[in-house]
Amino acid sequence: MKNFLWLEKQYLSNIQYKLSMFTKKTDSLYNMRCPFCGDSQKHKFKARGYVYLNDKTNSLWYKCHNCNINLSFNNFLKKLDNNIYDDYLLDVFKEKQTFKFNKTVIEKTSDVEEFNYNKILNNLENINDFPKDHPVYKYIKNRQIPSEKYSSIFYCKRFMEWINTILPEKFNAEQLKVDEPRIIIPFFDKDGNLFAVAGRSFKKKSIKYITIKFVSDEAKIYGMDRIDMNKRVYIVEGPIDSFFIDNCIAFAGSSGYIPEFNDSVIVLDNEPRNKEIIKQLEKFISLGYKICIWPKSMPYKDINEMIVNGFSKEEIKNIIDTNTYSGLMATAKLSEWKVVRKNIRMEKIV
Ligand SMILES: [Zn+2]
Repeated sequence: MKNFLWLEKQYLSNIQYKLSMFTKKTDSLYNMRCPFCGDSQKHKFKARGYVYLNDKTNSLWYKCHNCNINLSFNNFLKKLDNNIYDDYLLDVFKEKQTFKFNKTVIEKTSDVEEFNYNKILNNLENINDFPKDHPVYKYIKNRQIPSEKYSSIFYCKRFMEWINTILPEKFNAEQLKVDEPRIIIPFFDKDGNLFAVAGRSFKKKSIKYITIKFVSDEAKIYGMDRIDMNKRVYIVEGPIDSFFIDNCIAFAGSSGYIPEFNDSVIVLDNEPRNKEIIKQLEKFISLGYKICIWPKSMPYKDINEMIVNGFSKEEIKNIIDTNTYSGLMATAKLSEWKVVRKNIRMEKIV
């Protein structure tokens, strides 16, 4: 079995900025404040968390002498940051592939040929392949997705199972129990290479989008292959919403990474009760971005819903452009827009 100690050390060094009081004691021993129990509240300089080399497994482990948590490096990384953990799994996967194909490769070299992910779509059915009376075809048609986009939309009966054939054990047995059919939307970079896919659920109660990245250094942004960087770029939440606005990309589950544009507007869903959305908008305002605050009179929660309920592409673009704000104005509009929840406990006491 190939050893990934060097990869573990590399990832540990990459995430040390997240670890308070991180110090390297020796080549295989690192000390930090425990990120899980917070170490001591009273003593700000206590640091009782250690990453150490486990001789039995020849890999790194984490132990805290305060809360006694003991984790393999995998689980340590997973608990610390799920996105970075995903990147790590991909790197391990790539290393294993390289190892299989060429056992003489020991050092990581830069000229390792990139795995071509475009071919994974060959196993899927394209929307254009379905008969016009098929429920999947009808679903796409009823959402009024422009027919020229059909060729870039696919269907998969068991999404998680399919992903596991590409990234082994990405989804565990527990998750596979709730596996379901999903619409598949592939993400391509500027050169047309596939680097991620989003699976969109048909059900209202499920997680709307699950986005899986295959290439770790690409941000999970949808639509980068078809935008004009010199024009205003619209950034929405879901890939399907992005079909209805010209020069539009989608976050698609990424935690808000934005490439550099001359002019961009962030257009999140119309959900003034959603705390997560409020938090995101506050963050974007503080970073100086322009954001759209939907007018209170708009009853629909995302662009696709507006389209289905009779708004035209042009009308929606016009609403966005006339409700785009930044800086202090954005802060003022946001506090008008958000629905503050009443503090029920306070009311009871009074
Ligand atoms: Zn601890």
